[in-house]
Order: sequence, then structure tokens, then C-alpha cells
Amino acid sequence: MITREIFHELESNVQSYARSFPCLFEKALGAELWDADGRRYLDFLAGAGSLNYGHNNPFLKQALLTHIEQDGITHSLDFHTAAKARFLEALREIVFQPRGLDYVVQFTGPTGTNAVEAALKIARKVSGRTNVICFTNGFHGVSTGALAATGNRHHRNVSGVPLYGTTVMPYDRYLGDVDTTDFLDRMLSDASSGVDEPAAVLLEIVQGEGGLNAASDAWLNKLQALCRERGILLIVDDIQAGCGRTGSFFSFESAGLKPDIVTLSKSLSGYGLPFAICLINRALDQWEPGEHNGTFRGNNHAFVTATAALEHYWRTPDFAQDIQRKGEHLAIRLKAMVKRFLPHLLEVRGRGMMRGLRFADPKRAAAVTAKAFGQGLIIERSGPEDEIIKFLMPLTISNAELDEGLDILEDALVDEFDQNIERLSRPPLRELVTAANIGG
Ligand SMILES: *Cc1c(COP(=O)(O)O)cnc(C)c1O
Repeated sequence: MITREIFHELESNVQSYARSFPCLFEKALGAELWDADGRRYLDFLAGAGSLNYGHNNPFLKQALLTHIEQDGITHSLDFHTAAKARFLEALREIVFQPRGLDYVVQFTGPTGTNAVEAALKIARKVSGRTNVICFTNGFHGVSTGALAATGNRHHRNVSGVPLYGTTVMPYDRYLGDVDTTDFLDRMLSDASSGVDEPAAVLLEIVQGEGGLNAASDAWLNKLQALCRERGILLIVDDIQAGCGRTGSFFSFESAGLKPDIVTLSKSLSGYGLPFAICLINRALDQWEPGEHNGTFRGNNHAFVTATAALEHYWRTPDFAQDIQRKGEHLAIRLKAMVKRFLPHLLEVRGRGMMRGLRFADPKRAAAVTAKAFGQGLIIERSGPEDEIIKFLMPLTISNAELDEGLDILEDALVDEFDQNIERLSRPPLRELVTAANIGG
């Protein structure tokens, strides 16, 4: 019998998600997880957005199994391999060409934060400037360079060295109705404002960890125009919001942006395999060989599953339309919850299938996610005070599972805020399904 004792004894205190979901997970398929006792859970966290195509997606799994079966290469530094060539071809044909994008691809170390480090380095190298404009509530990773662009004090406080080379500016709607691009413009125009001329502006289109703030298309366009006017590079960190999460492959498509540099990771492999890249405007590719490196830039298993994901989901507009439709349904249901539970719930945020439900009281948000977990729903919080419940279910989730998870959440809200409202009548989710039953 496996127990969780070993984690208390041997694993560092730094673990965090495990504290919110104290059980021993053993098996997963699509939007479902099972623990060692065979209890079923719905996954509305999806590896913090790393499992957009669900756990063990059958198309990706088959491609990977075939590759392994044929003794395909696993690790290759940055050698040219067949799997890597296929990935680049799929990226060019399925992602770049239809969108009129002309990027070169930098394979960085396999974490998101390493892709951000690479983006910052190349922007600084090309421009000869140091400062980078980043935004309130932004999250870009926890290695020192990326951490300097990350707002969260909990992460920043432990850096151990001064974090510098960045200037924080207010994100869209941070100051209510004030157009914060006007503020940025003013700060950059004034030679005595104290803000050094920046190499780049770095931002998320929807802030995942920062509380599901979504920048408006108008604000983004003003920001891009401001960057172009002043010769500032525009870097979009699409590590969480990319790969379809907001309803298009890149999160900046509805705004029609053409960023100079884009970082991708999380759901890029589609299978939960570590993989990160930096897309760089061809003219900016001024790297000398090996200037930024990393041992694990050649994760061929990730190349194989990433290629399968592009081939299967992104050749036609169907998948994007499905995400938009489910995203609308999600928004409608969340808005109904806000209406029902005002003033405890304040608003719905985000875009596509990346939404947040803002609570007036962070403690109540914690209570609701804990209750939902008790009923078999895995869902996390984000935002400055963890006051926002974050909906990040696999994009491939079925309509029935989507509603099932939302029903559990709504029941948890009823339980927390209004014991008198009659419960929705539905069978308990945590019926015992043995892991052996799952198939596959
Ligand atoms: C998760 C995330 C990162 C960091 O990625 P890691 O793989 O955790 O290093 C950077 N930027 C954004 C927007 C993210 O969501």
C-alpha cells in the first residue's frame, strides 16, 4: 500500500500545489484524474495550463509510443533530428504561414522561465539597453532575470539578490478608467521621469498567475504602436495564455499584434513534457552560437507530441471554434454565479477558457476551492491575495464534464454562502471508480 508518508519525510517544504490537493494521484485521462484509492477527480487546473489537450491525449500518446517503439531519439542537445525537423515544419506550415509570421525559433532550456530569460537577453543584446518595462501582477517565472519582471512579492522576496533591470508600469485597468498606455507614454516622453529607455516591453495578454486580468485589444494596440514609435521591442509571454487557451493559438491574435519576440512553453508539448521556445523576429536573431544554451534543449519526445498536437488540433479552425464556444458557455455560467452570489462574488475575468471568478474575501475563495475539492474538483486560485478562482480545464473537456465541474463549484458556493438554498440534485461525483476501470 503506497501512502503519502514519504512526502512528509523526504520532500522539501517548498512543495505548494500538493498542499491544496492532499491525495495520491495515480492515473489520468482527459479531464479526469484518479487517486490510489480509485476516487475520480475532475481537473480544472490542468497542470497550470500545461495540459490543454488533456491528460494522456490519445493522439499524442500514440505518436509518442510509435516514436519510442522505433528507437527514436530521446535526447539530442541541439542536434538536428528528424523529430525536430518535423516539429519546425509543422510550426511553419500550421502556425506561422497562415498568420503571416516570420519568426526564427530558439530552443531554450525546457522551462518557461528559461524562455523568458532568453527573450530578455536577446532584447537587451540587440538594443544595447538594459531596462525592460513589465507590468503590475505580471508573472514570468522565478529565475532571477524573469523574477525581476514578476510582480508577486512572495516570489520576489526570496530572490536573495537585488532584482533589477526592469520598471513596473500599471497594466490595463490597473488604475480603473485611466488609460495606462498614456501614463507609460508620458513616462517615456519625459527625459526626467526617471525611467530609463527600455529595450523591450514584456507582458502577458491574459495574466494567469496575476489574477486573470485580460488586456483589451484597444489597449494592446496602443501599447504596440507606442513600442513601434519608440523603437522598443514587444515581447509577449504566451507561456500560459498561448497554445489555444484564449480561443486562438496565440493569445494576441484577436488584437492583431505582431510581437517581436514570443515565449511559449506549458502546453507546447501538449503532453506535459517539458518544452519551451522563444520565437524571435528574424531580423533580431543576433545570437552567436551557444551564447544562451542548456542541456535539455533537445527533448525529442516533446517535439513528437507537440507536432502531433499541431497536426491534430490546429490544421483547421474547428478546435479554436470549439474553445470559443466552450469559453462562452463558461463565461455565461460564471456570470450567473456572480449574479446569484453578489456581494460575495464580484466579477468574471479572463478570456476563452482562461477565466477567473473574483471573490470579495480571499478566505471564502479558499473555502470554496477546498469544498469543491472535497467533491472531486481540482481547481486553484490566483491573484494578489489568491482571491480569484481560476478556471483552466483542458480545452478538450467534454460539455458534460465542463458542466459537471461547474455544478460542483456552484454547489460549493451554495454551501459557503447560502446554506438555505436548495442543493442542485445530482449524484455525488466521488463515486468509487477503480483505476483498473479506466481503460487504455
Ligand atoms: C508558468 C509561467 C512562466 C514560467 O514557466 P515555468 O515553466 O514555470 O518556468 C512564465 N510565464 C508565464 C506567463 C507563466 O504562466
